[in-house]
Amino acid sequence: MEYVFFANALCKSYGKYKALNNLTLHVPKGAIYGLVGRNGAGKTTLIRILCGLQLPTSGEYTLYGVRSTNGDIAKARRRIGAVVETPSIYLDLSARANLKQQFDIIGMPSYEGIDELLELVGLSGCGKKRAKNFSLGMRQRLGIAIALAGNPDFLILDEPVNGLDPQGIIEVRELILKLNRERGITVLISSHILDELSRLATHYCFIDGGRAIREVSAEELEAACRKCLRVKVTSTATLASLLDSMSVEYEVVSDSEADIYGKVVLSQLSGELTKRGCELITATERDESLEGYFMNLVGSDKTRAK
Ligand code: ATP
Repeated sequence: MEYVFFANALCKSYGKYKALNNLTLHVPKGAIYGLVGRNGAGKTTLIRILCGLQLPTSGEYTLYGVRSTNGDIAKARRRIGAVVETPSIYLDLSARANLKQQFDIIGMPSYEGIDELLELVGLSGCGKKRAKNFSLGMRQRLGIAIALAGNPDFLILDEPVNGLDPQGIIEVRELILKLNRERGITVLISSHILDELSRLATHYCFIDGGRAIREVSAEELEAACRKCLRVKVTSTATLASLLDSMSVEYEVVSDSEADIYGKVVLSQLSGELTKRGCELITATERDESLEGYFMNLVGSDKTRAK
């Protein structure tokens, strides 16, 4: 797999406090990569390091194949567009004037492309309205337009829907999806709202205490959170052979338990097991929510890093 960004054992200390503690993660090209963690987990610190706003205490990262210790890292960073913490916009200027400023700052040869950017983020109808009169969602979209000014192929968004109303959340979400699907932009989004991220992300990294606790694809996360029937039996071998013969999907999770994903009629299953000398002890429906998955991960095993 081709990685746009690869962090290897990154550490960032403030005195004795470790904001990042051997953090390792991989952002695949074309992904919408969700960085999930509670407040203070280290998400913004990682983003600031990636954007060159801070240096790691130790460890390194690779961006578009260029190692952070290489002098060409600043060139690789030109492929990044970022909105870190709050969007950097001039509140007294219109959306168009803000974009002109940004085009000047990054040395774009002309203002060509501004109309297209305004259209892309849904702000072309704003005319002379100053950014201070925008809704938070509009400001966030303007911030994204500014981040897109240099035509980046990697967009980094720190908590992009924080504080937005439901309509604003939908607009920002749709914009991110459009940028990823239509323009092939790889996106890294940090958030502590897993439910919102799950509408977008193709990959996740769960961060806690400055460590990457687990990296999973959306498919893996969905499978882990899927509805199933957890059964406890006297012989998982007998259960497995019965379910195989019924072509029902299952997973044996311990010496006496298995998760059944396909549809089964419990009384029938119990009857068939009894005929084979196996007893069904308990059956419980399980439906692990995303938040439950996250809490299990960070609550139970803080030291497991991948
Ligand atoms: P949030 O969503 O609250 O911003 P986060 O996951 O982005 O959380 P960070 O901002 O990366 O977390 O902060 C990680 C930890 O490092 C926090 O405990 C924070 O207080 C601490 N920290 C960040 N910057 C500094 C600093 N300049 N000096 C001391 N401690 C800092």
